[in-house]
Amino acid sequence: MKIHEYQAKEVLRRYNTPLLKGRVAYSVEEAVNVARDIGGSVWVVKAQIHAGGRGKGGGVKLAKSIEEVRSHAEKILGMQLVTHQTGPEGKKVNQLLVEAGCLIDHEYYLAAVLDRETATVCVMGSYEGGMDIEEVAAKTPGKIKKEFFDPAEGMHGFQARRLALAIGIPQELVNKAASLILGVAKCFVEEDATLVEINPLVTTKDGQVLALDAKMTFDDNALYRHQAIESYRDITEEVAEETEAKKYDLSYIKLEGNIGCMVNGAGLAMSTMDIIKLHGGEPANFLDVGGGASTERVTAAFKLILSDKNVKAVLVNIFGGIMKCDVIAEGVIAAAKEVGLKLPVVVRLEGTNVEKGRKMLDASGLKIQSATDLTDAAKKVVAAARG
Ligand code: ADP
Ligand code: MG
Repeated sequence: MKIHEYQAKEVLRRYNTPLLKGRVAYSVEEAVNVARDIGGSVWVVKAQIHAGGRGKGGGVKLAKSIEEVRSHAEKILGMQLVTHQTGPEGKKVNQLLVEAGCLIDHEYYLAAVLDRETATVCVMGSYEGGMDIEEVAAKTPGKIKKEFFDPAEGMHGFQARRLALAIGIPQELVNKAASLILGVAKCFVEEDATLVEINPLVTTKDGQVLALDAKMTFDDNALYRHQAIESYRDITEEVAEETEAKKYDLSYIKLEGNIGCMVNGAGLAMSTMDIIKLHGGEPANFLDVGGGASTERVTAAFKLILSDKNVKAVLVNIFGGIMKCDVIAEGVIAAAKEVGLKLPVVVRLEGTNVEKGRKMLDASGLKIQSATDLTDAAKKVVAAARG
């Protein structure tokens, strides 16, 4: 799960991260009031969307007067912000972060991520922070410095200081930077994050070390033990179908293709997508209905697939071990009736109660082609999607 910058900063505050004064605002009037409350003479108005690259897309603006805060807020609030992370359609800005401005001396990069290779947490940093970090990573990976630590042990102070020095934090600010780095490392572990990114981490002309931007993602499987984080969920930022899927405990991920897939088991779902591609098709989604799904869940799953306007044909591929084939058939038939199914459906059923399932589908009067095996199913559905 992703959260907004202003929320990530609330989390970081609990880990004693030095931050500038700021608050979220949902209207232009509120943005102006926040700026007045903060005081000072320079503010930054920042679009809050679940994507980075806002600066380059016009979603982060410096204001030197309250009037400027107002005009930036008017422009940014409600805009369709396009960045390299949003896709060409962009994302609508529903809230702003109004923050004090600061005099930046240098912009660094800092992030904590999981390192699968060493099964540890990797904290990385770079002298080359700011808005072009993707290019640094691609062209000069040597400029990214790393420290690894065991999450059970935590990051050591000397590692944080070593990293601060390696990325070129001035000697007199190393202790301040190290304490910020340790806070980020602790936050990553304690909150079950999958990413904590501070880009930029800045040093200022008056000798401060600050987190100017913050991005966090969390492990969905651990959210049950972080109610504070879960309450940050912003479903307007999520794919509607995926939110619906979560309600029914379905693992659903929307993709770009036109062949809807309903499969049980993540492994079978992956190989179904592979075989569709092998035969020249493009899957519209990944969907694992899981083992032992009820008719209600299967119906919800099938409706979800059909709600995607790109879908031109559906492949139901079930290997019924725990899952019973007749339950699948019942779900497919119920959903098809409810939505008035017109699309071609190819079904490959195998396993428990397969005969019963097939008979139900045959008797349903739906336009269903049955397939003998996975290859046959893939060929049939690819042909059907082409029309
Ligand atoms: P994004 O990463 O989405 O582009 P950032 O929060 O990193 O958004 O902001 C982009 C740039 O704007 C930063 O790299 C920094 O130069 C500048 N900036 C952001 N916040 C402030 C601030 N409070 N004071 C001064 N400059 C800022
Ligand atoms: Mg940034």
